[in-house]
Order: sequence, then C-alpha cells, then structure tokens
Amino acid sequence: MIKQNLHSHCIYCDGKNTLEEMVLSAIDKNFTILGLSSHAYSPHDDVGMSKEVQEIYKKEILELKEKYKDKIQIFLGLEQDITYRTEDPESFEYLIGSKHYMEKNGEYRGIDYSSEVTTSMVNDWYNGSFLEYAKDYYEGMKEIATWDEIDIVGHIDLLMKFNEDQSSIQFDDPQYLAYAYDAIDCLVEANKILEVNTGAIARGYRTLPYPHQTLLEYMAKKGARILLNSDCHDKDYLDCAYELSLDLIKKAGFTSMEVLTENGFVSTPIEKFIA
Ligand SMILES: [Zn+2]
Ligand SMILES: [Zn+2]
Repeated sequence: MIKQNLHSHCIYCDGKNTLEEMVLSAIDKNFTILGLSSHAYSPHDDVGMSKEVQEIYKKEILELKEKYKDKIQIFLGLEQDITYRTEDPESFEYLIGSKHYMEKNGEYRGIDYSSEVTTSMVNDWYNGSFLEYAKDYYEGMKEIATWDEIDIVGHIDLLMKFNEDQSSIQFDDPQYLAYAYDAIDCLVEANKILEVNTGAIARGYRTLPYPHQTLLEYMAKKGARILLNSDCHDKDYLDCAYELSLDLIKKAGFTSMEVLTENGFVSTPIEKFIA
C-alpha cells in the first residue's frame, strides 16, 4: 500500500522541524514516500531559502535518502514560487510550482498572508471586486502551464484560503468558476499534476482541503492527474486530514492518483492508497 506526501517544509524555509525530524515522523506515520519541498529562493519571497541554504538543503536530503532508504522512499523536491525561476531545476527530483503573490508595477502582495492583506489588496488593486482579483489570479496560474520544469501545481485555489465562509465570493459563482475552469483546462492540457492540499486545515484556516470540491469534480471530469499532499510545516501534521481528503477524491470520481518513483510519476489505482 502507498502513503505519499510530496509537499513538506522544514526549518530552512518556514517549517518548524529539521529535515530529519520530518523523515522520522513520516516513518512513524507509515508513509512509504516522502518528498521534501522547501520554498525555493526568490528575491520576492521572504520565506524562500537563500541560494546558499538551498545547496545545504539539497545535500542533506540526498544523505537522508541514502540513510533511510530501507524504511522510506525520500525525494528531493522544491516548491518554486513563480516570482522566480530556479536556475538548476535538473538538480531536483521534482518541482512544485506555486503562486503565492500578486504583483502590480513591481509591488508584491501575499495571497495567503492574512484576510486583512487580501482585503486591502482587493480594495487597492481591484476596486473591491473579488471576482476581478480571481480573474487576475487564475490568469497568473495559467502561466505555470508554460514552465516545463514544473511537475506539480501547488494549491490551485489558494486565493480562497480566507473565504471558506464565502464572505468574499460564493464558491459556485458562475463567473468565478469560469476563471478557475479555464486555468484547470490550461494546466491539464500541459499535463501538469494538480494537488489536493490539506495545509490550511493543519494551520486552522480551513476545514476542507484545496481545491474546493466543485473544482475537484471538474478536474476528475477533465481527466486531470492528481495527488494528495499535506503541505506540511509541522511534523505532527504530516498526514493531516488524509482520510477525509482521500474520501473527497474518491467522491469526486477519481480512480487513480500519481505516485513518484525513481523513474518519474506513475498513475496508480486509488485502491492502493492508504490514509
Ligand atoms: Zn505554497
Ligand atoms: Zn508549501
């Protein structure tokens, strides 16, 4: 059976634990595959690693991969914010491409900082229209389709982080869905893998994973390749909401998920996965 998480952070970015603590926790929680994916260096992302730390990070993961090879399969990954393109993507075993910032005239504002930052951005840059914000956000997501080095698209509807109560926009707003579907079409067309991401549940912002179930059902209909990740920043939450999410994935109609192997990603029947 397979238990996999390819989205996890450590003290080299904004995570709480060392790489080894993450590995030991994964073994303890019966994971068979753990991918480490700290935030990449970007001059616009203050949680990203410095270029120097990124080299230490790589070396340490390759050592852990060898040290624990009999207990768990470890992969060297990176969460690449699309404000900056990593110069040596080939030195990682996979890349997650994520959009954490909106940009206007050289100014960057965080999408997932706080509801206050989101509200002031929507007011300042989109005349208070969350829909206009969503349009711009999903246009930006589509850019990931053109980045060949990206394997997995991170948290596709991150902009909904503070909107589980639907106070900013309704999840089923037809125009909102049209923007989201357009981005999904584009990313699926480019053969990108989309993730179901439980990170905001672990941190108390949401009760359900990204993406919203309506988008997940659309992805299933479109034949999207997906996988389940916890975007873990704390070793105790490595499999946060895995049971719930696996259930939602099955309910959406998926019959398979992607598994990372030494030979790349392999589509694998859903029955093979445990939470
Ligand atoms: Zn992220
Ligand atoms: Zn992350």
